[in-house]
Amino acid sequence: MVIGGSIAGLMAARILADHFETVTVVERDSLSNLNPSCPPQKPEPNGDISQANNVHVPLAQGQRILEHLFPGLAIELSLVGAPKINWTADCPVLGVGIRFQADLATHTCSHRLFEWSLRRRLIDHYGVNFLESCQVTQLLLDESQAAVTGVQLLTQNRSQAERLSANLVVDARGCRSSLPQWLETLGYPSPEETAINSFLGYSTCWFKQPQNFQADWKVLMISHKPPKNKRTGVIYPVEGKRWVVVLSSVGEDSFPTDQASFLEFARSLQSPLLYEAIKDATALSPVQTYRRIENRRRHYEKLSRLPEGLIALGDAVCAFNPFYGQKMTVAALGALTLDSCLKQKAQPTENLTGVSKRFQTELASTLETPWLIALSEDFRWSTTEGNQPGSMLRLMNQYINQVSKSAIDRPGVWKCSIRN
Ligand SMILES: Cc1cc2nc3c(=O)[nH]c(=O)nc-3n(C[C@H](O)[C@H](O)[C@H](O)COP(=O)(O)OP(=O)(O)OC[C@H]3O[C@@H](n4cnc5c(N)ncnc54)[C@H](O)[C@@H]3O)c2cc1C
Repeated sequence: MVIGGSIAGLMAARILADHFETVTVVERDSLSNLNPSCPPQKPEPNGDISQANNVHVPLAQGQRILEHLFPGLAIELSLVGAPKINWTADCPVLGVGIRFQADLATHTCSHRLFEWSLRRRLIDHYGVNFLESCQVTQLLLDESQAAVTGVQLLTQNRSQAERLSANLVVDARGCRSSLPQWLETLGYPSPEETAINSFLGYSTCWFKQPQNFQADWKVLMISHKPPKNKRTGVIYPVEGKRWVVVLSSVGEDSFPTDQASFLEFARSLQSPLLYEAIKDATALSPVQTYRRIENRRRHYEKLSRLPEGLIALGDAVCAFNPFYGQKMTVAALGALTLDSCLKQKAQPTENLTGVSKRFQTELASTLETPWLIALSEDFRWSTTEGNQPGSMLRLMNQYINQVSKSAIDRPGVWKCSIRN
């Protein structure tokens, strides 16, 4: 059973379908409301993080894993209108002079469309069951309190709790997962947490792509430049010939909350290109703002005890600053780690002794590099709060500086840095 039917939960369900007879995904939200073709109609409550309306782009490595897990996904996304971006040719980066064709393409589309495509495939090809509008409220353990036997859940229209048994429960409830508190209630230790906050803030707005719009880019990215220039703007094309425009900044900077301040912020970027592109375009949504998006890691791998048959992955274990676009790719790596742990376990399927501990340990080592990359970038800002991991951070900073410098006129370096 998987708790949470978003990207990490869906990828985990895909792996579980190879190892178990029955896989059930329990999702708190109603899935029928998530119409993939709709832009947001009303802003989320202030400060809430809703990803449903955001653009989502996997990194090249994430795309390769997704295609391996869901063969034909890229073609399907193309067929429903998600633009294909060849990152080395279609996305000019300020300061990098070269553009060239390479096999480094991914699709840009809304989070909704992405989820919908994965979910549809899980139902049609892998027999995965979905329980929507159901909130899991508790873990159930066996008599010795050593192993998970299932969960307790509440359906939207029933006030009475139901029990569902499972021999493996995956927590993919995102960064607000209450698994640490559940563990404590059950007499287990709860994991240490590390949080690193650059005080990133996002504002997004959907636009109709102007008819006959001509430009030499498909994605336009006006990047920040630490330590002083904090503002970034990106135009992503998505399904339905629309643009999702994302404006962001770090630290104490203010974020646009309405159309007028959105345009004003766009005008303040290092280059006028983004402002010029959107100033006369028709907005299709209100401006939405997102805050409190820090890097947050829960160290399940360090726990002395964990119930057998319990796995935590995705943002529930490690939520990254979304600016670096690593999360879906890391969720995909987590799914592969789960696959490898389940392949190593003893037979029969019901015997899951040791899998939980092994998985959390292996996941922690998979997370090290993307975690260090996110931190090394975030600590370029003097306002970032949290404990700096010392010399490794400096090494990563120097490495990234060197790669960026070499990539300016060397396609091979540029390609390698994007590929992985
Ligand atoms: C602004 C923003 C932009 C982003 N852009 C990108 C990007 O471009 N590329 C990228 O790779 N990643 C991006 N991400 C990250 C990405 O959306 C997620 O981090 C990634 O999909 C993994 O999330 P998850 O599935 O672990 O958690 P979530 O997406 O948080 O999903 C958790 C799910 O669990 C459900 N749930 C919670 N509690 C319960 C319960 N008790 N019972 C049942 N269900 C429950 C929730 O309803 C939800 O569906 C972005 C994130 C943000 C905030």
